Amino acid sequence: MTIASAALVKRADELDAADPLSEYPAQFLGSDDPEVVAYLDGNSLGRPTRASADRLATFVSDAWGRRLIRGWDEDWFDMPLRLGDRLGAAVLGAAAGQTTIGDSTTVLLYKLVRGALAMRPDRTEIVLDRDNFPTDRYLLESIAEDHGLTLRWIEPDFRGGVTAAEVADAVCERTALVVLSHVAYRSGYLLDVPAIGAATHSSGALLLLDLCHSAGSVEIELDSWSVDFAVGCTYKYLSGGPGSPAFAYVAAAHLDNFVQPIWGWMGRDTPFDMAQGYVPAAGIRRVISGTPAILGMIPIQDTLEMIEDAGMPAIRAKSVSLTEYALDLVQDCLVPFGVAVSSPLESARRGGHVTIDHPQFRDITARLWQRGVIPDFRGPEGIRLGMSPLSTTFSEVLAGVVAIGDELTAS
Ligand SMILES: *Cc1c(COP(=O)(O)O)cnc(C)c1O
Repeated sequence: MTIASAALVKRADELDAADPLSEYPAQFLGSDDPEVVAYLDGNSLGRPTRASADRLATFVSDAWGRRLIRGWDEDWFDMPLRLGDRLGAAVLGAAAGQTTIGDSTTVLLYKLVRGALAMRPDRTEIVLDRDNFPTDRYLLESIAEDHGLTLRWIEPDFRGGVTAAEVADAVCERTALVVLSHVAYRSGYLLDVPAIGAATHSSGALLLLDLCHSAGSVEIELDSWSVDFAVGCTYKYLSGGPGSPAFAYVAAAHLDNFVQPIWGWMGRDTPFDMAQGYVPAAGIRRVISGTPAILGMIPIQDTLEMIEDAGMPAIRAKSVSLTEYALDLVQDCLVPFGVAVSSPLESARRGGHVTIDHPQFRDITARLWQRGVIPDFRGPEGIRLGMSPLSTTFSEVLAGVVAIGDELTAS
């Protein structure tokens, strides 16, 4: 199998033509680059929007170049909170005043975990799972070591993820905090957050969600799900650019009592008084430590405009169609060659990417990258097909799966 059959190409073209979000892929830079046949790693680094190229250039020449230090008073001081509110409304299901942008996911996780633990001072355990993203596991290991806490590990199904029953079994009157990823970075498993929240809260513990793999691809309702804390990055489905700042959510009910451990001047009440002693700023600003990375917040604004325009329900619907289509193709074209599907088959339990396994996938991924087909490899033998609902076309998915089949039969 070296080329897709005419029938398969026709089907992909029909799906693209019928896509209600078909106007968006061309709004991303590089979508017409013939060297990139299929970009299937939007869940690791989203493509840039064309609008961001202009917005970045204008920011440097005008906002930074001409407004100079006045920019802080005029715009930048409130930018992390203003963008946080927009992200909250468009993506997170969060009312204003609970979300801010800044730092990396890792650093925000540290701040929120420490702040949450301080709200449960008599409790000694944190519940987490073996399949969570490495940074989440390492960071919790470090905090547990520093504070003499016990980590209670859930061992989820490799092809699935953490269930509410597993959380209910793991929590008890000693549990301070449960930390889980909304969408598992490897399998793509999508948590049942309301059920997990209920299990967590029934033990008196708090729930912190990592939204890195869900923000911008699945619908999120932090307020109505009663999630206590959340973090996530903006460089994956939100196309903020490499290393763009992350976001943090602290539920309004906790804000008055929430104190994070990295006390800096920008998160202090009235920072420009330069006063003695730290007094946390009112509201979500207290999550900020030092000077926010304004330059890194420019491209997110263009993605937010697209999401506000398209709406998360339509984006999720496209995402489900893309993963269903990918799974159908994998079933027909790759499973006969020994490929196994390692993602949930039920759409309601699956995020925006699909993981497939085969012993040759490490070598094959390197060859795919050379031919402009760009998924990513996750050990021990997985290829992740990350489909970004605003930028990925059905034709790209077909080209990617056909190329994998081609490499498999050639090797
Ligand atoms: C990508 C990702 C991260 C990345 O954290 P950084 O601090 O931005 O490196 C963390 N958690 C999850 C679940 C991720 O998918």
